[in-house]
Amino acid sequence: MTTVRIESTRPSGTPAPDGALVDRFGRVATDLRVSLTDLCSLRCTYCMPAEGLDWLSRAQRLTDDEFVRLVRLFVRLGVTSVRLTGGEPLVHPTLPSVVERLSSLTPRPELSLTTNGVTLASHAQALAASGLDRINVSVDTLDRERFRELTRRDRLPAVLEGVAAARDAGLGPVKINAVLVRGGNLHEAPKLLAWALEAGYRLRFIEHMPLDADHTWSRTDMVTADEILTLLTDAGYTVRPHGERGTAPAEEFDVTDGPGSSGWAEPVGRLGIIASVTRPFCRDCDRLRLTADGQLRTCLFAQSETDLRGPLRAGASDHDLAELIRTAVAGKQAGHGIGESGFTQPDRSMSAIGG
Ligand code: SAM
Ligand code: SF4
Repeated sequence: MTTVRIESTRPSGTPAPDGALVDRFGRVATDLRVSLTDLCSLRCTYCMPAEGLDWLSRAQRLTDDEFVRLVRLFVRLGVTSVRLTGGEPLVHPTLPSVVERLSSLTPRPELSLTTNGVTLASHAQALAASGLDRINVSVDTLDRERFRELTRRDRLPAVLEGVAAARDAGLGPVKINAVLVRGGNLHEAPKLLAWALEAGYRLRFIEHMPLDADHTWSRTDMVTADEILTLLTDAGYTVRPHGERGTAPAEEFDVTDGPGSSGWAEPVGRLGIIASVTRPFCRDCDRLRLTADGQLRTCLFAQSETDLRGPLRAGASDHDLAELIRTAVAGKQAGHGIGESGFTQPDRSMSAIGG
């Protein structure tokens, strides 16, 4: 494996908090992504094959008690933010109860959810009442036929209803995730931005990553952050960087002017670009991932995982599990290595890891 030099992200001399999960580059893990299920109601072409994947069995998936016990432990180890994802987290039958249990943890982590939105309209109020703080919904297109092509399901009206329901339930600011695909929805970037600004959603474009189950990703074919910004500028938008990025994956921009406007006095909204491939942010990464079958991944692109489910079911104490987690974090790789010689796409695809 290529060794990448990486410097500590904390100002020199700043000690990590006592007991924090620190890796050998000084990065402190505070953000946990939990994949509640590998199942999904859509089949997005950049993520899953048409026929789906070999789903985990019920016995392989963690139970709610196991999820809660592990998240409680991560919180004690310094995790302050927990994002529930999948697969599609809304197909997890007891999602509101999981949210409620996680929102009762002490200290209480910030709780968010990433969803495809298909059944969000009927879940949004219950999730807000259970203690969910924020929501991200994936919407790649506003064209019903293109949505059917991209996701292999005709569910756009339900998704748009779900996004509005999340906003009305107070789960804001609602963030919209969009992956642009050449020959698919690329030209829709300005239209998506106009829609998001109008409705008060925060749009974030995500660069396509080599995590598709079909292994069709290509560096030369993917849509880059530069290309997206050019497309928006050509469409009449003006954006300017919005403050310090910190550990957030999205580079944020204020939108200060738009097509047909004679200049807005104030920014009218925010745009984010998650340019994992062309503008990697690994040196500031504070994220960990727990898969639905209880494997800890310290990087989306890691080639190895740490099994927490086996020891958990064999009766490991919190102390033993904490040691496993500390050791895994300490060995976190410097960067994803996309584009370097020797880079290999991980066996698990995005939906099986938890994006
Ligand atoms: N099913 C939910 C959804 O789609 O929002 C949550 C899981 S999904 C894996 C999380 C995010 O990953 C989505 O916003 C999706 O667009 C994104 N995603 C999936 N495959 C990707 C890929 N190969 N590259 C970049 N983003 C991807
Ligand atoms: Fe399902 Fe989300 Fe993957 Fe689409 S991106 S197939 S909705 S897990």
